[in-house]
Amino acid sequence: MNDFYSEIKSFEQRKGITLVAVSKTKPNEQILEFYNAGQRIFGENKVQEMTTKYEELPKDIKWHMIGHLQSNKVKYLAPYVSLIHSVDRLSLMKTIQKEAHKVDRIIDILIQVKIAMEDTKMGSSFEEATNLIEAYLSGNYPNIRCVGLMGMASFVDDHSIVREEFRSLKNYFDTLKSGPMKEISHFKEISMGMSGDYQIAVEEGATIIRVGSKLFGARE
Ligand SMILES: *Cc1c(COP(=O)(O)O)cnc(C)c1O
Repeated sequence: MNDFYSEIKSFEQRKGITLVAVSKTKPNEQILEFYNAGQRIFGENKVQEMTTKYEELPKDIKWHMIGHLQSNKVKYLAPYVSLIHSVDRLSLMKTIQKEAHKVDRIIDILIQVKIAMEDTKMGSSFEEATNLIEAYLSGNYPNIRCVGLMGMASFVDDHSIVREEFRSLKNYFDTLKSGPMKEISHFKEISMGMSGDYQIAVEEGATIIRVGSKLFGARE
């Protein structure tokens, strides 16, 4: 536990932002400290680690998958995952549809868009994301609910670059919201911002922030 948690929780309440506490690599005991303080949403980037934690920890925790997701692992998280942030290709959407149908669930997803100028970041291009949105709207994905977009900014000290990247995601969201997604009331989330840049993300319109090291301490 640390002081930052109460700070960010009051921030969450003031601004109506959802905090995903990113607990990857961190032990159950530490997750339970945040759980006991009231946190219920935790984010992980590996399916196996998340599934083990899901099995061992209280069942009212909402687990968010924030990392790159391989299609062959979808079946392990389909029964319980609360939100998948990292949908970046059609083949993955198809698999999520199939596995969600098998367990008779509707799974919420975000489409991850590559906004960073750096080459290392995952996500679909804006063009690919538009194709995913069109596919989603085709009606062939009844067990998927697309609730918004996710993006990661470059790891750079220059705030103006980070701000510009977040702004590009917000602009793209607004374009969809006034265009193809106009009638889709559940399309309303923008997941952006991590320990180093969540304040900028919130200023640029984030509705979900994903904070790890600032809450749990640095990872190995
Ligand atoms: C690890 C991770 C985070 C949290 O990173 P911190 O810098 O520790 O806050 C957020 N989003 C994604 C996709 C991550 O993999």
